[in-house]
Amino acid sequence: MLDLAPPTAAGFAAVERRVAALLGTENDVVIMQGEALLPLEGCVKGAAAPGSTALNVVTGPYGQTFGDWLRECGATVHDLEVPFSGAATAEQVEAALAAHPETGFVSLVHAEAATGNTNPVAEIGEVVRAHGALLMLDAVASVAAEPLLTDEWGVGLCVIGAQKAMGGPAGVSAVAVSGRAWERLASNPRAPRRSYLSLLDWKERWIDAGRRALPHAPAQLEMAALDACLARIEETGLAAVQARHRAAATAARAGVLSLGGGLEPYVRDERAAAPVATTLRTPPGADASALVAKALAADASLPVAAGGGALAAAMIRVNHYGANATLDAVTGSLRALGEALAGAGAGGAAGEVDTEASVRAAAGAWSDAL
Ligand SMILES: *Cc1c(COP(=O)(O)O)cnc(C)c1O
Repeated sequence: MLDLAPPTAAGFAAVERRVAALLGTENDVVIMQGEALLPLEGCVKGAAAPGSTALNVVTGPYGQTFGDWLRECGATVHDLEVPFSGAATAEQVEAALAAHPETGFVSLVHAEAATGNTNPVAEIGEVVRAHGALLMLDAVASVAAEPLLTDEWGVGLCVIGAQKAMGGPAGVSAVAVSGRAWERLASNPRAPRRSYLSLLDWKERWIDAGRRALPHAPAQLEMAALDACLARIEETGLAAVQARHRAAATAARAGVLSLGGGLEPYVRDERAAAPVATTLRTPPGADASALVAKALAADASLPVAAGGGALAAAMIRVNHYGANATLDAVTGSLRALGEALAGAGAGGAAGEVDTEASVRAAAGAWSDAL
């Protein structure tokens, strides 16, 4: 890891092209040297001019953050809030745009690892395009877990990070920027310039300069790790990586439905459930954080976590992404949660806990899905 040479300009540009292929885009890809919140903040602050109007679709905690940034930029923001147990629909977005025809920017999260839901971007993208607004998509938790067709869906700003389904590093991220998105950023006098948040700096100093010299020293460890994780996806095949995530989600859902003890899928409609992570609703009287602590005490390597913030008592997350998109990770999580539930005295009216039935159902769903 030490004495690692930084990537050359040509090597850096080659990684950009492979990210573009992963996203199904011909647009410019900017690889940013920081966690995905960096390009997300850069996109919002670049696109949200004072006096502009934005529609912010909130299906989880990231949408709430985008709304705060948009308001900070002086934009008028209309939040379309959807319960975390479901997804936004194209009809809802269409109605919101019709109610506020001056809307020029729409922010949307594709899949939400934090709440386990995923939004129908193809349909929403069509509505946004018909309205003439620019769509920003947070695809951090969907890339490599489910289809992500940036150009076909008309996504103007598509942001990804490598740390979820790609199984890569958290310290680099990327954004695909359409021609219309560049125009919008360039016309915003308040868009960040001479700033780490600035996409326009990358355009001017890297893309328009012919990608001959990097504007500053790249993070060589993270770039090497991103290169390796792209190579692994290319070798395995993107469709196979996505299929494994979908199978893990299907197995987790089937397993929970057979577990008993009152634990249920948090996302009610399976079509709105994200392949990246499955969220569970705890029965009344059972505390999610306490159950997770017990499960992790049995096996600290399990990909289970309690929901964040206000969801800490009622939501359990099974993060079956990246290296954990496996049947073992899912069944291990179900077993440990089932034992924690049984130990907590669940059962009775909520039904007995049947860990073995749950594991069998998960295994059956996994092999049916693959
Ligand atoms: C994980 C994730 C991010 C990145 O944020 P972290 O706090 O580093 O995990 C951004 N957006 C979405 C939708 C995510 O799921």
